[in-house]
Amino acid sequence: MEVKFLDLHKINMQHQQEIEERLLKTFRSGWYLLGNETKTFEQNLSAYIGTKHAIGVANGLDALRLILKAYIELGIMQEGDEVIVPANTYIASVLAITDNGLKPVFVEPDISTYNIDISAIEAAITNRTKAIMIVHLYGRVVFSEDLKKIAQQRNLKIIEDNAQAIGAVWNGIKTGNLGDAAGYSFYPGKNLGALGDGGAVTTNDDALAKAVRAIANYGSEVKYTNKYKGLNSRLDELQAAALDVKLKYIDTENQRRREIAAAYITGIANSKLILPENPGDEHVWHLFVVRTDNRDGLQNYLTSNNIHTQIHYPTPPHKQEAYSEYSHLSLPITEKIHNEVLSLPISPVMTNNEVQYVIDTVNKY
Ligand SMILES: *Cc1c(COP(=O)(O)O)cnc(C)c1O
Repeated sequence: MEVKFLDLHKINMQHQQEIEERLLKTFRSGWYLLGNETKTFEQNLSAYIGTKHAIGVANGLDALRLILKAYIELGIMQEGDEVIVPANTYIASVLAITDNGLKPVFVEPDISTYNIDISAIEAAITNRTKAIMIVHLYGRVVFSEDLKKIAQQRNLKIIEDNAQAIGAVWNGIKTGNLGDAAGYSFYPGKNLGALGDGGAVTTNDDALAKAVRAIANYGSEVKYTNKYKGLNSRLDELQAAALDVKLKYIDTENQRRREIAAAYITGIANSKLILPENPGDEHVWHLFVVRTDNRDGLQNYLTSNNIHTQIHYPTPPHKQEAYSEYSHLSLPITEKIHNEVLSLPISPVMTNNEVQYVIDTVNKY
């Protein structure tokens, strides 16, 4: 048996007829940007998340960049201000900050959740801090009443990087509706994946929504009138059409991911591996990440048994060449995680036989 890491063909073919019909309709409409498909998807996405606004943009990195750029244009942040960000994240979270001339302040993760250690945030706040960017890494919610209190007391914005966690729920509230604004990625491999690039911003803040929408469209609210030095970052109609079909199935697909994660957690018994915790609805299992001392050994063993795995991520942002100015930082928990993690296959289209094969093979390691 061969177990793919993520079978995108199979995932999208589940909805072949519906997606093809919507794409064809969009193609034949002759309208490809800023039209009804995007409007419909935005309405359905905001209804799903529970926010007042959703704005389609070109990708997940732009979603985060646009939120910060809008706060700068609205006078809420200035160049040189600090944004707290988890040290253990995908580099996009950090790029959105530095691209706006803001300063990332890295905070270590909690080793049991891999998410930012909320109890370590206060010590990182200075008089230049303007926001806390939280990343629901691997699909697991990171939020608490304490975090809300810290942000309120210090007058900080909470920005959610919700690229990996669409559909996750904290105390009845969806991620993307926990803070002041959230960025989403619809990169094909994400839980809600487009057929190319796509992203979105959600918020309940009218002024922020208006600014993000304008900045994403050349800084323009009225055609050929430019209020801001904007970008071109629009979700196109074909992507919106495909996403609008797939959004209907996200809860079902996330539920299947939860089933597979539960089967792994119950079935895998090998003292060489540390398994993730199972926090129920607070996880949508974008990735199922285990840790082990000899990560390469486990990966090679699984590859030789036709089980495809990946590493998320091999190098933390502060150790990337792009961020050599931060390479002196010592973030030992983050560095340990990056040396030990391995992502096992998980996807809504894995069969029970495949799941069992992964469990049996891991147990024989
Ligand atoms: C995928 C991802 C992004 C960036 O999304 P793109 O659509 O690839 O630009 C940002 N943050 C996290 C945590 C991600 O996983």
